[in-house]
Amino acid sequence: MFENLSDRLTRVVKTITGEARITEANTQEMLREVRLALLEADVALPVVKDFISQVKERALGEEVLNSLTPGQALVGIVNEQLTKLMGEKTEDINLAAQPPVVILMAGLQGAGKTTTTGKLAKYLKDTLKKKVMTVSADVYRPAAIEQLKTVSGQAGAEFFPSNIDQKPVDIALAALNHAKRQFFDVLIVDTAGRLGIDEAMMNEIKALHAAVNPTETLFVIDAMLGQDAANTAKAFNDALPLTGVVLTKMDGDSRGGAALSVRQITGKPIKFMGVGEKLSGFERFHPERVAGRILGMGDIVSLVEEAKKGIDQAEAEKLAKKLKSGKAFDLNDFLAQITQMRKLGGLQGLIDKLPSQLMKGAGQVDANAAEKQIKRTEAIILSMTPMERSKPDLLKASRKRRIAAGAGVQVQEVNRLLAQFDQMRGMMKSMQKGGLAKMMRKMGG
Ligand code: GDP
Repeated sequence: MFENLSDRLTRVVKTITGEARITEANTQEMLREVRLALLEADVALPVVKDFISQVKERALGEEVLNSLTPGQALVGIVNEQLTKLMGEKTEDINLAAQPPVVILMAGLQGAGKTTTTGKLAKYLKDTLKKKVMTVSADVYRPAAIEQLKTVSGQAGAEFFPSNIDQKPVDIALAALNHAKRQFFDVLIVDTAGRLGIDEAMMNEIKALHAAVNPTETLFVIDAMLGQDAANTAKAFNDALPLTGVVLTKMDGDSRGGAALSVRQITGKPIKFMGVGEKLSGFERFHPERVAGRILGMGDIVSLVEEAKKGIDQAEAEKLAKKLKSGKAFDLNDFLAQITQMRKLGGLQGLIDKLPSQLMKGAGQVDANAAEKQIKRTEAIILSMTPMERSKPDLLKASRKRRIAAGAGVQVQEVNRLLAQFDQMRGMMKSMQKGGLAKMMRKMGG
């Protein structure tokens, strides 16, 4: 996502930061480059125009001219305007209404509505601890109802069944009634989409809106859309009182036009973004972080959050307790640690969030190979018996041969893993004896 745009803007930023003096001429030059970069990213034309004129006005103003580092001041302005373009501050989902709070999902077919309904249900349930119910009012595609049932199950949300013989409004009202009686906190209504905007579709969703009076009406839009995004967003915004936007497929390699245009066109905040097909591929939208990523400054904050989310607190505490009690670190613990690493979303996910400048030289980091290696390590440990895992010293030649065969690897690999494990066990032992501080001292000295 944003790769070309980011490349180009990063180059502009580098050049201008190095300029000792900011003149009208080099400002114009920079603006031209920024404009081209945005157009190439397929940002809607009126949005580009506005953006450039605002940056220009500020760039030629006092704040830059009087700055000791005018180049940096200018970059600061581009950064601020880019952030503003996507919404300035992070916006929360609004749940401030008498429960069940209703969330209506709108958007074209294929935008990712059903997937997003599942993701949102999971987010509301896991992060905000809400009791969530979902329902599908898509009576044109039985597969869509089935799909919602599946993702709701994965999200751990209640699914209210519906079928294609019912009317969308009747379905939504029955679900709402049920949600009320069962004291649900939130009801998410997934709706039908068409491949293009048509009047019948708009009338249907308007009727749904009027019937259930949602607190949030979220417009789901595919970030891969370019100029088309403007028309689609406008049509939905005119037909419905939207309260927010969800940008999906931000993990793809699209140019980013929709992401940069949709806020300006609808005037509605982007609340979430989809970053993968799995339900875990869902994040709140932080305009300043996304702007930073585009300008090649990297998204370190998201990276840290991602890491925190991945680490299973209960697992970590279990290990800490075990170490404290003086019990030996065994291969079961080793396996648990490897699993934790896997949960961090895989190496590729982490690499994607690093600043593009930083990653330029490291383009060859082979995340695939590294992940394969982790899987092999897992396979080896899983080929051991529970007894062997808790008493690794049992592992002599014949057992090693059996384990290697079970995992489909060479005996040397089993040996290598055991050597790694020994190293880690050594570290854990010194932690148990002298505590962390002592170990750090040892490493430092
Ligand atoms: P709907 O017709 O609007 O309900 O769209 P779906 O939820 O069925 O999604 C359409 C396709 O987009 C499916 O193949 C999804 O897996 C995929 N999809 C949805 N959200 C994302 C996302 O954030 N990233 C990626 N890569 N794919 C997504």
